[in-house]
Amino acid sequence: MNTFIQTIEHAENIAVTGHIRPDGDCIGSCLGVYNYIKDNYPRKKVTVYLEPMAPEFRFLNGYDQVKHKTDDSIYDLFIVLDCSDETRIEPFADLFKRAKESFCVDHHISNRGFCDDFMIDSGVSATCELLYQLFDEDKISFACAECLYTGIVHDTGVFKHSNTTRETMYIAGNLIAKGINTSHIIDDTFYRKTYLQNVIMGYALLESSLVMDGKIIYSFITKKWMDLYGVTGADLNGIIDQLRVTEGVEVAILGYEMNNLEFKVSMRSNDYVDVSKVASYFGGGGHIRAAGCTMKGNSLDVINNLLRHIESQLKLEEQNERDH
Ligand code: 5GP
Ligand code: MN
Repeated sequence: MNTFIQTIEHAENIAVTGHIRPDGDCIGSCLGVYNYIKDNYPRKKVTVYLEPMAPEFRFLNGYDQVKHKTDDSIYDLFIVLDCSDETRIEPFADLFKRAKESFCVDHHISNRGFCDDFMIDSGVSATCELLYQLFDEDKISFACAECLYTGIVHDTGVFKHSNTTRETMYIAGNLIAKGINTSHIIDDTFYRKTYLQNVIMGYALLESSLVMDGKIIYSFITKKWMDLYGVTGADLNGIIDQLRVTEGVEVAILGYEMNNLEFKVSMRSNDYVDVSKVASYFGGGGHIRAAGCTMKGNSLDVINNLLRHIESQLKLEEQNERDH
């Protein structure tokens, strides 16, 4: 038995959380662990804490039970999933600090291990993929399988990003064997857009700019515009993917103004730029091909700072190509 399951078996009162602004892998991981514990250890108490989640995930079992506010509980075990550093559990940091023990399961290359114990594997596509490996396959229920499959679908961009391996597909296959409705999960949680979400995607693509010989594409969405249309950060999913597949592009950048003069930045790369390195420099993190950070200033300041760091990696690659 692995140390994650051992640690769960030794605890009675367990809390689970992910990261701020929870995405598909984060929600799938937290509810996956929630269902696994509920199904196999019915005497244990398990509570999930996450910021409000997008409504398309409401079919996952346990969605309605998730707490969005912290409280004064003291847990035997605090499980942190899909979260690369302590600052990203911010709303529930007090619960984390008070807990008797903490355990982190994650796949971010930037994770330095901030819990008492951890399992971090940056070689897996999603935290949900790693959880599948830690769970006993026979004990994964239909409800748990739906959660894990959802997480893998989201972090692989529906099995198309370079993090999708033979093992990812094998695990997805085993989850399908549990009887889940895959096309419902993929369409309803990943591809379906509201009219407003489509409008803002159109706007972001229209406003995008190509720089550095077309190797970098970026687009910034101001708070004024988001307020005008009543959209939030969660409505911007999918835009960065469309920017990334623009012909000739190596790096795609999408920024949206969270607060006045403060931008949430997403970055994706295709072949050689390590965007996790760039994001880490600005206090963020992520993976080599997908990373993010928060930056202060106007959009011009933000893009200029980012371009300087990306340009040095592009130049290095050009030099390597010349040398070979
Ligand atoms: P996204 O661009 O979809 O928000 O995030 C891409 C990846 O980078 C995700 O794995 C996400 O967890 C990570 N990431 C995004 N923003 C931040 C951040 O501000 N800090 C850290 N540590 N990771 C981030
Ligand atoms: Mn993830």
